[in-house]
Amino acid sequence: SVPLSFFGGIGAASRNGVLVKGSSYLEALGDVGIVAFDKTGTLTNGTFGVVAVHTPEGVDPEYVLSYAAHAEANSNHPIAISLRESYAGVVDESCIEHVEEHGGKGVYALVSAHKVLVGNDRLMDEARIEYPNCELVGTILHVAIDGEYVGHIVIADVVKEDAKDAIAALHASGAKRTVMLTGDREEVAAAVADELGVAEYRAQLLPQDKVSIIEELLAQVEGKDKVAFVGDGVNDAPVLMRADIGIAMGAMGSDAAIEAADIVLMDDRPAKIAYAIRVARKTMGIVR
Ligand code: ADP
Ligand code: MG
Repeated sequence: SVPLSFFGGIGAASRNGVLVKGSSYLEALGDVGIVAFDKTGTLTNGTFGVVAVHTPEGVDPEYVLSYAAHAEANSNHPIAISLRESYAGVVDESCIEHVEEHGGKGVYALVSAHKVLVGNDRLMDEARIEYPNCELVGTILHVAIDGEYVGHIVIADVVKEDAKDAIAALHASGAKRTVMLTGDREEVAAAVADELGVAEYRAQLLPQDKVSIIEELLAQVEGKDKVAFVGDGVNDAPVLMRADIGIAMGAMGSDAAIEAADIVLMDDRPAKIAYAIRVARKTMGIVR
């Protein structure tokens, strides 16, 4: 049977916007040793602004933005949503004939009978499309139309207000390692990890790579220490399930992530993780 004080802990957490789906997850949280995070939408707001559109000579940036906005019209990825918000024109749904979204890479779409690719280096490499080497800080969306490179859109995300404090609080509360996992570029990952004080990061990951890294971390953890993963996206569901403790963002997070998670942060604030650990330890102290 479950000791009564567990309900006290779960209740206190829920009143503070931390939904714990069962007493065993609260207990596990008290023993957390490694906390891994997704970047976009979890440590950052996931609301990007278009910083610039770079095109080869003779290509109109508005033309590139228009095709990109159409290709991304039906995606729920934070990048797609932000791109649509930055696009001043109208998206004509009837022009979109076919769309395929490739997790961690981007989208392939047929727009007005033109083959449109919007995504990162990996997407371009697979389609054998050459692109310039971008040394800018920012997330880069390359765009190709009918096999031809037409430019890239530079977008920038900002870290969540409480993300830096959240990481510091985790280290203070006894988490031995913090690790950021992202599909974004090395340059962006390094800058964000540095800004937030996240001790380790892994970049350019595909969704399945994140699962493998969680498995590596599970193998590295000592004694009864547990591995937590914090994420928000559709692609994060398998990672949330693989970790000992899956923590999802409840407000902006995808339904799939919320469903797969053991703990849900209702207000999307990463600082609530350290709070939940304190509640867990206090509760454990009472029941042990
Ligand atoms: P993160 O791991 O930071 O949460 P994702 O795994 O969701 O990021 O995406 C990783 C990368 O894949 C993005 O930085 C982007 O380059 C590319 N990508 C994913 N989805 C899309 C999309 N809908 N449109 C364009 N690029 C995308
Ligand atoms: Mg994400």
